[in-house]
Amino acid sequence: MTIYQNLIAGEWVGSDATKNINPSDTNEVVGLYADGTVEDTKNAIAAAKAAFPAWSRSGIWERHVILKKAGDEIMARKDEVGALLAREEGKTLPEAIGETIRASQIFEFFAGEALRLAGEIIPSVRPNIGVEITRDPLGVIGIITPWNFPIAIPAWKIAPALCYGNTIVFKPAELVPGCSWAIVDILHRAGLPKGVLNLVMGKGSVVGQAMLDSADVAGITFTGSTGTGRRVAAASIEHNRKFQLEMGGKNPMVVLDDADLNVAVEAAANSGFFSTGQRCTASSRLIVTEGIHDTFVASLTEKLKTLVVDNALKSGTHIGPVVDERQLKTDTDYIEIGKQEGAKLAFGGELITRETPGFYLQPTLFTEATNQMRISREEIFGPVVSVIRVKDYEEALATANDTPFGLSAGIATTSLKHATHFKRNSEAGMVMVNLPTAGVDFHVPFGGRKGSSYGPREQGKYAAEFYTTVKTAYTLA
Ligand code: ADP
Repeated sequence: MTIYQNLIAGEWVGSDATKNINPSDTNEVVGLYADGTVEDTKNAIAAAKAAFPAWSRSGIWERHVILKKAGDEIMARKDEVGALLAREEGKTLPEAIGETIRASQIFEFFAGEALRLAGEIIPSVRPNIGVEITRDPLGVIGIITPWNFPIAIPAWKIAPALCYGNTIVFKPAELVPGCSWAIVDILHRAGLPKGVLNLVMGKGSVVGQAMLDSADVAGITFTGSTGTGRRVAAASIEHNRKFQLEMGGKNPMVVLDDADLNVAVEAAANSGFFSTGQRCTASSRLIVTEGIHDTFVASLTEKLKTLVVDNALKSGTHIGPVVDERQLKTDTDYIEIGKQEGAKLAFGGELITRETPGFYLQPTLFTEATNQMRISREEIFGPVVSVIRVKDYEEALATANDTPFGLSAGIATTSLKHATHFKRNSEAGMVMVNLPTAGVDFHVPFGGRKGSSYGPREQGKYAAEFYTTVKTAYTLA
């Protein structure tokens, strides 16, 4: 089997490899992917550092052309790359193709942004002096990504980093190196100079840690678990380095008595269970007022009965497998915890056997949960959702905000008054009215508050806040 190698200083290197396993069919090896070392990481950082002066001064047209070419190739190959994504991560083929299209759109967006770089010219408060405010790139950016969006998250970090003139050392999650390799290969062939984008696949504790330990990495953008995020923060403060963290969520969706039942059920089923509940913006707490509670639970349960859990590549599958054995154990452990805490298992909770051996779990719904239970406070990251019954809107809002996290929050209501109040008073970075808490646009800011995020927002023009540093220049006329 071919080994997909790391890209360091423009060369494909590495002979030690790890198997990429398909969670829908554990007999299938998706590919062999290089297992990077500390030495590889140091070489990649040195290459990115050496490539920085020229790339940071490269013309905006060159950046535009490369980003555009990459976006176009990803779009042209969406079915093939989408299938690879579905095979390595386990989300359904339509979801995987959708995510691949999203990656293409992100490259297209930043191809456009490259042509719109601008600064400000401002009069000084002193006579005969001009002031210019410009944005400089940071330098070497370390990109560390999780497994749940194998192509969209790498795209939304790589594209702005390159657009604003930074060089990169990129470490994808161990479980899903395939899509990362594909986009690095595409960008490399699109004409990026040697060393501008380096790919080091491998273990977080080895490659990721070596990035955290390097004084030559000027910025780290991280999406992953809270625990690792804290390590990134501590190491970055040590090196006086800029960092940006996207971590967990425990996203609430409020359903009020006046909600359109259909809209509420569709939004809850989508954001709770699609992509196997493995989205940081998934709704894992459904906070439902008394008057609609029983009807809502009954309708949602009926909906869950219609959802097919099966091989991600099979047509008709709504929910693919859990990503791996470790995550499956986390999910089933939390299902046990939920039962012990006294929540009522209203649907699912069982492992499923399918034609191909994989990590299949029924969508799982707990009712009669309280907001103090561990299943309502801790991020599970699986298709496990709890319903919390509340008296009225005020209690719903207080419950929604009573969480260590603050990524996304939703409300299903036909009341303009409550929708408006919720948008103003939700302590989340993103608020959805009559929409799933997951599912966002690519040209507007993405990010959260409290324990979910740290640092500037990602995506859209707000990405410049992280990937550049502002310079103020004064000139005597
Ligand atoms: P998860 O538990 O969802 O896999 P992690 O936070 O462990 O979340 O993983 C997110 C990313 O962080 C992955 O690319 C992983 O390899 C990386 N990572 C894990 N440990 C470290 C570490 N000590 N230093 C840097 N990166 C790490």
